[in-house]
Amino acid sequence: MSETTESMDHRPLGELLCPEPDERPDLWPWSTRRREDGVLEIGGVALTQLARDFATPAFILDRADLRGRARVWASVMAEEFWEGYGMAGGDAFYAGKAFLSSDVVRTVTKEGMGIDTASLGELTLALRAGADPSRIGLHGNNKLDSEIESALSAGNGVGIGRIFIDSVGEVAQIERIAARLATKAKVMIRVKTGIHAGGNAYISTGHEDQKFGVGAYDGQLDEVVAAIEASPHLKLCGLHSHVGSQIFGTAAFTQAARILCALAAHIMTDFGRPLPEIDLGGGLGVAYSGDDPVPTSVLEVARAIAAAVKSSCEELGIPFPRVSVEPGRSTIAPAMVSCYRVGAVKDATLGEDAGEALRGHRRYIAVDGGMSDNIRPALYGARYTATLANRVSSAPLLRSRVVGKHCESGDVIVWDVDLPADTSSGDLLVVPVTGAYGYSMASNYNMLTKPGVLGVENGEAEWIMRPQSIDDLLALDPGVHHRGEL
Ligand SMILES: *Cc1c(COP(=O)(O)O)cnc(C)c1O
Repeated sequence: MSETTESMDHRPLGELLCPEPDERPDLWPWSTRRREDGVLEIGGVALTQLARDFATPAFILDRADLRGRARVWASVMAEEFWEGYGMAGGDAFYAGKAFLSSDVVRTVTKEGMGIDTASLGELTLALRAGADPSRIGLHGNNKLDSEIESALSAGNGVGIGRIFIDSVGEVAQIERIAARLATKAKVMIRVKTGIHAGGNAYISTGHEDQKFGVGAYDGQLDEVVAAIEASPHLKLCGLHSHVGSQIFGTAAFTQAARILCALAAHIMTDFGRPLPEIDLGGGLGVAYSGDDPVPTSVLEVARAIAAAVKSSCEELGIPFPRVSVEPGRSTIAPAMVSCYRVGAVKDATLGEDAGEALRGHRRYIAVDGGMSDNIRPALYGARYTATLANRVSSAPLLRSRVVGKHCESGDVIVWDVDLPADTSSGDLLVVPVTGAYGYSMASNYNMLTKPGVLGVENGEAEWIMRPQSIDDLLALDPGVHHRGEL
């Protein structure tokens, strides 16, 4: 180890360092700070204390941060599309798939957001956590009858605020269930706008070879509108488009807004039906490491969408629609971190072509979680960063890879980060920006138990999702002798 350390002394440092909270506040929950003793603190609680009193690995949620982000989305949409400014109102629906728990539902709805769901589980949780059914949406490219039934029966039969129709065939399915329940379903149509956006790239294509939505220009949209118009138990409320995820800048959103306005104008002309609402989906990006740019602000996005909707509607001569968005990642990703305990540390000797920064070695730092609590690096090659949470170190930096404890060599949490050479077993590593698509995509691979989620605020911590136990895992297996039965 010392040999490697010394050989690293001359390489330029700081290329892949995890930015400290004061250097890149956008990467960290708002209350994160490095104490004078080097310990990282969130919500007024030291991560060392959380690791000792609760568990590692754990997700840690800064509750005030989530509240603030939800409030910003809700209030900025309300403000930019305010009726007082001549618009028709604006809304933000939290995309529950990013991470949903009853606490999160209550937090974001209290701040004024609605909830978007995409399965019976998400819908049931939102309802049981007390979300107003009229402020819940249901998505899905293959909705089950049970999901539609639950959506239409919510609120004593009033039904949820909107169901997003994703295919021609779904019109008859929802009509059949709404007729049986003697209710009227409020529906919006998800269209393929031809825009694809994601990552830092922004690509516009003429067609979309993907499973979501109905074609806007191949006759499918007209077919769906005609079918809805002929269905006595369906009420068409508007059009929806979700162009992608991890989007920086405003161009993808404003282009989608203009396309939806143009399609709404077309439907008004051909079917004589004005559409009161458009929804532009989610997708606003966040930074995951120091390499990523600071994300576009919520205000900038909303303001750009408002300007695009205003000018489009004026040109097209249609009334302003109510405008909604569905931000998931940007609402919760930076409000949470993952905290792990370091276990095995080893160096791999690499070939000559390993590159300058590696100097023939790659350090592998294994932690007590892995791809079961964060699949994104393995699934998408997503790039995170990590830093020591229990101390600072002046040891030389080593290009390191943070890996989990699963039986898979692709079990990587952080592909590349410069960590102090003295990082060793027992240290705490924290990975920021894990609030979205971390816990919600977690699995029990290798029969690892899912970590819990700790809510922290004002020096207090409590589980908002308890960690799974081995008994939780075994409870579903009828062949297991349960404790005491042996
Ligand atoms: C995934 C998704 C979202 C949320 O996307 P984020 O990138 O997390 O903001 C919103 N709407 C729909 C329809 C989605 O599929």
